[in-house]
Amino acid sequence: MIHRKKLMLIQLYNTLNRQLEIFSPIVENEVRIYTCGPTVYNYAHIGNLRTYIFEDILRRIMNYAGYTVTHVMNVTDVGHLTGDDDEGEDKMLKSSRESGRSVWEIAQYYTDAFFQDTDKLNILRPHTACRATEHIQDMINLIKKLETNGHTYTAGGNVYFSIDTFPEYGKMAGLKLDDMQSGARIEIDTSKKNPKDFVLWFTKSKFENQVMIWDSPWGRGYPGWHIECSAMSMKYLGPHFDIHCGGTDHINVHHTNEIAQSEAATGTKWVNFWLHGEFLIDDSGKMSKSKGDFLTLSYLIKKSYDPLDYRYFCMGAHYRSQLQFSFAALDAAKNARLNLKERIRILQDRCGSVQGDNLSKRADDYVKLFEEHIGKDLNVSRGLADLWQVIKDQLLPEQEKLYIIKQMDSVFGLSLLDFTNDDLNNDSKEVDSLISERTIARKNRNFSRADEIRDILQAMGIDIKDTPEGTTWRKKV
Ligand code: AMP
Ligand code: ZN
Repeated sequence: MIHRKKLMLIQLYNTLNRQLEIFSPIVENEVRIYTCGPTVYNYAHIGNLRTYIFEDILRRIMNYAGYTVTHVMNVTDVGHLTGDDDEGEDKMLKSSRESGRSVWEIAQYYTDAFFQDTDKLNILRPHTACRATEHIQDMINLIKKLETNGHTYTAGGNVYFSIDTFPEYGKMAGLKLDDMQSGARIEIDTSKKNPKDFVLWFTKSKFENQVMIWDSPWGRGYPGWHIECSAMSMKYLGPHFDIHCGGTDHINVHHTNEIAQSEAATGTKWVNFWLHGEFLIDDSGKMSKSKGDFLTLSYLIKKSYDPLDYRYFCMGAHYRSQLQFSFAALDAAKNARLNLKERIRILQDRCGSVQGDNLSKRADDYVKLFEEHIGKDLNVSRGLADLWQVIKDQLLPEQEKLYIIKQMDSVFGLSLLDFTNDDLNNDSKEVDSLISERTIARKNRNFSRADEIRDILQAMGIDIKDTPEGTTWRKKV
């Protein structure tokens, strides 16, 4: 067997330097990844889920390349205001007021709903999923460190991070410190020395009935949103780790503030690679939770889509390109996925076992090409095209095909060789026996019976296609 994985070259687009860079880990053979998790005041929308799918692909590619991955993700259950710049109301409190349920009930309910969605999408669970409310002391300790290092001030009852004490502030986002003093904003907090300063700890609640509050050296209150990611990532991954991810909306404020407070606290570089996923958009532009009107995975399931149709749809575009959602495009993804699975099912029925020892040159070339594509900034859409080529290649031994498909699917996470929960599988016996009968009828030149069977299958909602490998079928969408 060819062991190329350890040598696989991985290049990632690093937002920090706005360029493709060769990935090399801090600790040999290990990758430590932190991803910003959900704010659990509502269901995740399919745009959020696109970001988690991209992060899952990153993790799977690292696994494929032979790295041991440690993945940490936060769950924001306090402190995320409706505006990222310390403006507006706490999202959890707003949801509580509107629904009449306690903030704790809401957090638990939407955390569970989030993981149910990600499980359905074959997104691997983080090794550590940490709730903000369970790490208040870690945040307080970090703020104390910042205070000792002279990076904070207290005003109007809040503790602020002073960005003027951190000359590198805004480097990743390309912000210029000189422009910031004059940066007019709609709602300026008059306690801030610089409009871009941000709250580390609120002691004077902006809101009535604030129930999520804790004791701290600065008085009873609650943390700002950004501090949780710095505190929890460093707790579980150490002060310097490999990769931090999130959506592009986080570059200018959330991640910029995370970098400032983390590096001001430790005095050293915090994260080597920053990866940001572009947005899923719909007809009205950006899909957002706060707009209230958004699509969920449950809605797609209700509309008879398999969650993996959505995963396949997302994989058709590069993670750094915006992706426009439409039901027509989702239908196309569904068709392609079902077609793919059906071809693989036939292949598996025919050859049973996989063959990975002593790959032929032809097979090895496919694997090499695939690794080249996915290694170049996670290009799984090129990887999917490679998979289709493998399937269609009539000169490739079938057992090798199956082996390559299995390897590729460890990156795609599409359960391509798992037919147990497939709707298709339930119908498949009947369809298979009709197709066998039709094949015999055609062999015997009994075309009227063959056409009759095609009509029966049509009426059952099954489309068939005659290919050189045999007849394939799929359910009509
Ligand atoms: P939130 O739960 O709002 O904190 O967002 C969770 C993740 O989804 C973050 O990484 C966001 O950057 C990302 N995100 C938000 N909206 C979209 C969208 N329309 N498309 C893709 N990712 C998004
Ligand atoms: Zn974060």
